[in-house]
Amino acid sequence: MSHSLRKVAVLGATGSIGGSTLDVIARHPDRFRATVLAAHSNVAALAELCVRFRPDLAVIADPTLEAELVRRLAAAGVRCDVASGHDAVTQAVSGDLCDTVVAAIVGAAGLDSTLAAARTGKRLLLANKESIVMAGALLLDALAVGGGDLIPVDSEHNAIFQCLPGGRPNLAASGVRRLILTASGGPFRGRTRAELAGVTPEQACKHPNWVMGRKISVDSATLMNKGLEVIEAHHLFGAAPDVIDVLVHPQSLVHSMVDYVDGSVLAQLGNPDMRTAIAHALAWPARIEAGVAPLDLAACAPLTFQQPDLATFRCLALAFQALRAGGDATAILNAANEVAVDAFLAGALPFLGIADLVESVLTELPPQAVVDVQTLNERDRTAREAARRILRNAC
Ligand code: NAD
Ligand code: MG
Repeated sequence: MSHSLRKVAVLGATGSIGGSTLDVIARHPDRFRATVLAAHSNVAALAELCVRFRPDLAVIADPTLEAELVRRLAAAGVRCDVASGHDAVTQAVSGDLCDTVVAAIVGAAGLDSTLAAARTGKRLLLANKESIVMAGALLLDALAVGGGDLIPVDSEHNAIFQCLPGGRPNLAASGVRRLILTASGGPFRGRTRAELAGVTPEQACKHPNWVMGRKISVDSATLMNKGLEVIEAHHLFGAAPDVIDVLVHPQSLVHSMVDYVDGSVLAQLGNPDMRTAIAHALAWPARIEAGVAPLDLAACAPLTFQQPDLATFRCLALAFQALRAGGDATAILNAANEVAVDAFLAGALPFLGIADLVESVLTELPPQAVVDVQTLNERDRTAREAARRILRNAC
């Protein structure tokens, strides 16, 4: 079968999703070329990736590190263009250097580049869930303008995408009753609030099934990750909050499900390895080898499912609350959570304080209508300032 070579921009190339993406790309040099590699500040890792993947452009978001990147590339004999700064990432995805963008920057820092990829009609492989949580409606508008495809890379949404009819179907007209997002429950599943009071960042980052960046690992431990994913599913699939369910499934083999009115429940299963979702999204609608071991169900422990404990893991309840509140409440939730997770990782906030801080900021800043990205970025800043002030006053 003949297929054209996809030119892929990997944003967050030095991260966990970035690494998995480049692993899949390396397996298919006839299909994909990594033409743009972007990272925040790990200049040594970015330079090494440039040696291996020979992109046309390397972007380092921290402008103070541009000279060092240039020096390292020259020393290694790599000739590629170099750019630096936040806006350079956005510019890199907007032009002709790529037709496909893997949005794998962590946090709200990924919003501008995600929007630019959508607006310019690139195939958008969305891992950066914070951008859709912040600006879901604006991202959908940008996609409509650009006319490109958005293929979710988050494993749950990729699973649901695979279980739905093609395109962006109307759920009710397609006979969909519910979307069921599965959650591993994280490293602290089954614990009481008293048992969570003293947990450390190292314990929180030790996920039972997935190896991920530190921010999403903490989000998985609080269940905020699932909360962000409920909001993500709402926007991606046009699902009202009431038709989105969460089920804890500790084995992480069923990545999510779609429940249809005739009683059929379609699920997507696989080993917990992000390369499956990434390969699916890169090659869609084709299927390609991803380097993932085949699923041996007979060798797996029984698959179990249970309701989440919303009283202990309050972040999931707060995310539903923000989604129902509407307006920019989910952007406020996201900003407060990013500050709270940073503080927890720095040892400045106890684990249970993450939900408390998010709740305080949501209470202090009632939702406003989403107008445009500038206003949203201002509200993001306001929410971060409020969160930092509350943190300072608590100490
Ligand atoms: P990570 O911490 O491993 O990597 C983050 C990447 O983002 C790094 O390459 C870093 O250089 C880059 N980055 C950070 N700030 C930046 C900035 N200001 N400008 C440019 N680049 C910046 O994180 P990860 O686990 O790979 O997660 C990335 C995103 O994918 C997150 O939004 C996460 O929620 C989502 N996601 C991750 C997984 C997973 O299995 N790791 C699964 C689903 C979704
Ligand atoms: Mg996920």
